[in-house]
Order: sequence, then C-alpha cells, then structure tokens
Amino acid sequence: MQKITIIGAGYVGLVTGACFAEIGHQVMCVDSDPVRIELLRRGRSPIYEAGLEELINENRDHLRFTTDLGEGLDAGDAVFLAVGTPTAPDGRADLAHVRQAAAEIGRRLRREDLAIVVKSTVPVGTTRLVERIIQENLPEPKRFFMAFCPEFLREGTAVKDVLEADRVVIGADDLEIFDRVARLYRRFGRKIIHTDIVSAEMVKYASNAFLAAKISFSNEIANLCELTGANIDHVVKGMGLDSRIGDKFLRAGIGYGGSCFPKDTNALLKTAEDAGYDFSILRSVVEVNRRQAERFLEKIFRRYPGGLAGRTAAVWGLAFKPGTDDVRESPALRIVSALAERGCRPRLYDPAAMNNFRKSLPDLPCEYSVSAAAAAEGADLLVILTEWEEFAGFPLERLGGLLKEKIVFDGRNCLSRRSAEAHGFEYFSVGRPDLPAR
Ligand code: NAD
Repeated sequence: MQKITIIGAGYVGLVTGACFAEIGHQVMCVDSDPVRIELLRRGRSPIYEAGLEELINENRDHLRFTTDLGEGLDAGDAVFLAVGTPTAPDGRADLAHVRQAAAEIGRRLRREDLAIVVKSTVPVGTTRLVERIIQENLPEPKRFFMAFCPEFLREGTAVKDVLEADRVVIGADDLEIFDRVARLYRRFGRKIIHTDIVSAEMVKYASNAFLAAKISFSNEIANLCELTGANIDHVVKGMGLDSRIGDKFLRAGIGYGGSCFPKDTNALLKTAEDAGYDFSILRSVVEVNRRQAERFLEKIFRRYPGGLAGRTAAVWGLAFKPGTDDVRESPALRIVSALAERGCRPRLYDPAAMNNFRKSLPDLPCEYSVSAAAAAEGADLLVILTEWEEFAGFPLERLGGLLKEKIVFDGRNCLSRRSAEAHGFEYFSVGRPDLPAR
C-alpha cells in the first residue's frame, strides 16, 4: 500500500484516485474547486461516469478529499498532477493550471524524495517545465523526482479503462524512478512500459491523433459511399475484420468531439509548427472533422428548401458520445445552434448531458424534454446526435406514432436502416443510401 495524492479531481484525477483506492492505496484527491470537494466528501460524484460514485463510496476508508494542496503533499509518497489543459486561443495547450499547480507544489513542498508524476496531457517538454517551476518556487532546496504517465481512459468507460487498461506508459529518467511509479500500478496487472519523458509525452498525442485520423478517414470513406451508392456499414465490416486494421474507431458520423481529440490534435499541430514541420495528414484530419458536422447540416437544409422556420426538431443526444455528461466540443453544440439560427425550434433530450448543454449555451432558444419520447412527440423531424443505447433500442413503431412526420436525420447511424425502411421512415444517415419519402 502506498500513499498517493492526486491534484485535480476531474475525469482523469478522480477516476484515477478512486481506482488507486480500489487496489488498496491510500489516496488523497486535491481540487481547487470547493464545491466539487464538498460534493465528494458527501459521497457524490461531480461527474457522470458509470460505476464511479459506487467506487468512491466503497473506498471511503482510503479515499480523502481536500482543497488544501499542502495537506495533500504532506500525505503522499507520490503526487499525480491531473489538472486540465484546455485549448488556448492560439490552438496550443493552455498550461495555466499546470503552471499554477507546479508553483504551488514548489512553495508547499516540505518533504524529501517525493515522486511527482504529470498525468495531464501536455506538449513535449512540459514535464521538464514543471520541474523547473517547482525548483524556482522551493523556499529551500529539496530533492524530488519527475515522471510523466499519460492517461488513456475514455469518458463513458473510464473506471473500466483504468482498472483494465491495456498499457501503462511511464516516462522516467532512470529505472529507479520508473520502478517507484510502476509499483503503484502493479496490482492492475498490466503491461507497463518504460520510456524517456519526452517520448511518453509524445505517446499520448500520437495515440489521440491516430485515433482521430481513423475517425476522419472513416468519415471520408462514408462521404464517398454516399456519392457512389456504397454502404459504410458493409465497407467497415469488410475492412475491420482485417486484424491489421481492426474494427474500432471506424464508425462514421458527425465527427469526433469531447475534451481530448479536438484539443490534442490542435496542440500537436502547434508542436509540429513550432518544430518547423508540416504535419499535413493531421491538418486534414482536423479539417475533415470540422466539415463533417457541416455536411450533416447541409443534408437537413437540403431536405427543407423552403426553410426550417416554425418547425420543431426533436434532438436526441447532446453529449459528445454516449455514457458521459460531457458536451465539450460536442458536434451537438454546432448543429443545434445552426438549427435554431434557421428559425427551427429544437426540442432536446439527452439522458445525462442536458445540464452541461444548458450551461454551455444558456441563451439558446430551445426546449428541454424529460424523455426521448417527450422530445419526439409532435415534432416535425428527429435529429440523432449521440448514439445512446436507449435511442438505438427505441421501438420504431412507437417513434412513428410520436412524430408528426416520419423524418429522421441520424448523425450517428444509430438506427437500423433496414428497420427504418420497414417502418416507412424517410431516413438520412451517414455513408448509407438515404431512404426518400414514399
Ligand atoms: P477536468 O477539467 O475534468 O478536471 C480538472 C480538475 O483540476 C478540475 O476539477 C479543476 O478544478 C482542477 N484544478 C485546476 N487547477 C487546479 C489546481 N491548481 N489545484 C487543484 N486542482 C486544480 O479535466 P480532465 O478531463 O480530468 O483532464 C485532465 C487532464 O487529463 C487534461 O490534460 C486532459 O487532456 C487529460 N486527459 C483527459 C481525458 C478525458 O477523457 N477527460 C483522458 C485522458 C487524458
């Protein structure tokens, strides 16, 4: 059992902390947001993530929460830095929270030999920057060790991803530091890889950029399917069975969103720019993703040449993906706003993300519904933007009875095209032949 302190109790820090507690470590989570800490002390999770609240409550004996970083530093053998690194206005990663936390660690560090592990996604060279900031803020000399350990969890399956991750990458200058950090992870029983610090920083960006590229590639094939009469479902099935390709991240749709892919692809482009390298594939990945939501909107607008003014569009799904309440960079923000701008009345439903959506677009003229059925009732059209299971499983016969007109724009290929056809829907999806009105 080790004592671990996590700075930043968000999606990454909180899930990592709860999972470390689950395997027996003594964990202290520090967050500068007092409301968040108060909620956690009451056993409530401030974020929606399957199994997280249960894990927090099951491990109350060895999971503590504080806003006091000094208390956290005194309590830990290792400190993980998991604060946010949002996109700065110029597209680079905004390191303000990282810098601030590093300076505070320096000012408050009292003990020797602390292992300080950066877990936030940060551009190459940032772990060294954190080390320098800590050094500069130390009131008196102290020995400490730096490592970088990228996080690969996915929102929606974060707890499982941490407890059963396929790999842990630890960037550390030497084997002794690597071992200190690796020891914390051993009970997860996974593949633990040692790299230098800069390579570990690059692993995270390279992984996210590659996954984003897979999605944009699949979306471009889907667009081409639409123009040639092919069906993306069949194409992906045929491609995905090749073990060199795999079937994951090939789902066509309205593009990726969330707090990671958009910001990390942009930050990596800036890293390339700063290094004098033209990362042309990645530029296209980002551009294709931007266009994908626009293409979908055009499909809707084309269907209504007389305009959408006065029509009610039921919208199912606001989160950037199912299983989360996160709407950061969700394509739904752009699509719902564009519908409202055209005078359409969006009537929204999402099982988890409505509060966050409302906070992101407080002035949007729209209605929020209590259920998928309530949103659809009497609507002129249905637009699906997140592939929640409850939407995929919604009985189409019932849906047909709820909508004023049986018209569906499915941005996530959530419904079976064949069932939509059997139930007489006019149905538009991505990379599959449209089903026109009959
Ligand atoms: P988040 O915004 O959910 O959480 C960050 C937390 O840090 C917030 O609760 C904030 O109050 C706290 N914080 C900020 N400054 C602080 C300080 N000085 N002291 C204490 N607390 C402070 O962010 P997140 O989604 O958990 O992401 C954290 C990092 O992990 C980012 O770099 C992100 O790119 C990376 N990451 C995120 C995911 C994901 O799916 N969300 C996956 C892998 C990696």
